[in-house]
Amino acid sequence: MVERLRGSAGVAQRRRRLAHTNGLCERCPDRGRTTLAVEVDHIVPLDKGGTDDDSNTRNLCKSCHLEVTAEQFGHRPPIEGRGISRSGRPTSADHPWNRGR
Ligand SMILES: [Zn+2]
Repeated sequence: MVERLRGSAGVAQRRRRLAHTNGLCERCPDRGRTTLAVEVDHIVPLDKGGTDDDSNTRNLCKSCHLEVTAEQFGHRPPIEGRGISRSGRPTSADHPWNRGR
C-alpha cells in the first residue's frame, strides 16, 4: 500500500501532473469535448495495488472521474428514481437489504 503524499508536497505533485495535459481532461477528447481536469485519478487504485507514480495517473474532469470510478467499482453511479437513493441504498421495500425490517 502506497501512501498518498499529504500537504504541500501533494499539492505540488498534483499541480505537476495536471500540467502534463495543460490542465485538461484526458478522457474528454475521445468524446469530442475539451474540459478542464479537476481530478488526478489513479488508473490502478492505490488500494488495489496501484503505484503513486505519474505513469499510474491521469487527469480527469468531474464527470469522467465519476464514470471511471463507477466502472472500477462495477456499478453505475446511484441515480434517484431508479430505485436507488442518493446514498446508494435501494429504496424498494422488497429488496434483500430492506427485507425483515
Ligand atoms: Zn472528462
